[in-house]
Amino acid sequence: MRIDLHAHSTHSDGREDVRTIFSAAKAAGVDVLALTDHDSTAGWAEAADVARELGMGFVPGIEVTTMAQGKNKPFSVHMLAYLPDQNNVALQEVLRNTVVAREQRLRDITELVSPVWQITWDDVLAQLREGATMGRPAVADALVAAGHFVDRGEVFAKVLFDGSQYYVSNESAPDVLEAIDLIRSAGGVPIIAHPLGRSDGNHALPEAHFRAMIEAGLAGFEVYHRDVPEFAREWLLGLAKEFDLIVTGSSDYHGLTGKENRLGENVTAQEMLERISSQGFSDVIYP
Ligand code: AMP
Ligand code: FE
Ligand code: FE
Ligand code: ZN
Repeated sequence: MRIDLHAHSTHSDGREDVRTIFSAAKAAGVDVLALTDHDSTAGWAEAADVARELGMGFVPGIEVTTMAQGKNKPFSVHMLAYLPDQNNVALQEVLRNTVVAREQRLRDITELVSPVWQITWDDVLAQLREGATMGRPAVADALVAAGHFVDRGEVFAKVLFDGSQYYVSNESAPDVLEAIDLIRSAGGVPIIAHPLGRSDGNHALPEAHFRAMIEAGLAGFEVYHRDVPEFAREWLLGLAKEFDLIVTGSSDYHGLTGKENRLGENVTAQEMLERISSQGFSDVIYP
């Protein structure tokens, strides 16, 4: 079984809707796909229906935006939460707060960018499905649509990278240790997305912090992901062995024109999915 545990739809910053993603996954030889939109469970119901229709497996997930304390400043950590209870009130409230804060943040980013490259808030909204979790990719898409850049990648490299003068952080997102606790309380299985990945700028994540996350109830790491550098992979596999943690592999697909990541480019062992399933509240749909 080919199992890919990380993909985004138009419910957040993916460029394709749920049905398109599952059809593409099937064509790519993926048997089980997790939908992990940023801070949202809005795509789960459709994903379950489409997966059953196509004879595919489906794992409900969320990529939860969290913040951690760095040496000098806070930095963002993306925490995958698999199989939580979708009706958990505390979890949905925290997600809701993040989604609301993300809108103001994106308005702020748009205001920083617009004097240089003329785009309006309506141009950004035009790139988003109603109710979608808002992120920098929508501003990137608006800049591309206006003809200023060729694709999201160019915008991130030149304008929207972490630490640029146009960057605003998701600083009101929950602390990562609290988020781990919240996800566990909601019956979810917390796994760090692309740990030490290039795109999050968290290269200096200290070992003490990893141990704190493990103590807080972290279930594992997304070790096999294109943004996880080689040196980190070895180190993470060692930690996973020491603490008997889950390791996963995933694409982090955002659509054909969203990012270069392709469905099924990294996969998760079936044994690891079974461990996630045994710790989670909700059911995995198997193909
Ligand atoms: P935000 O959630 O607003 O902080 O934006 C982060 C999102 O931007 C990530 O989840 C990715 O989907 C996207 N992203 C980051 N770097 C790139 C890149 N180089 N090319 C395309 N998308 C990117
Ligand atoms: Fe994303
Ligand atoms: Fe991420
Ligand atoms: Zn992601």
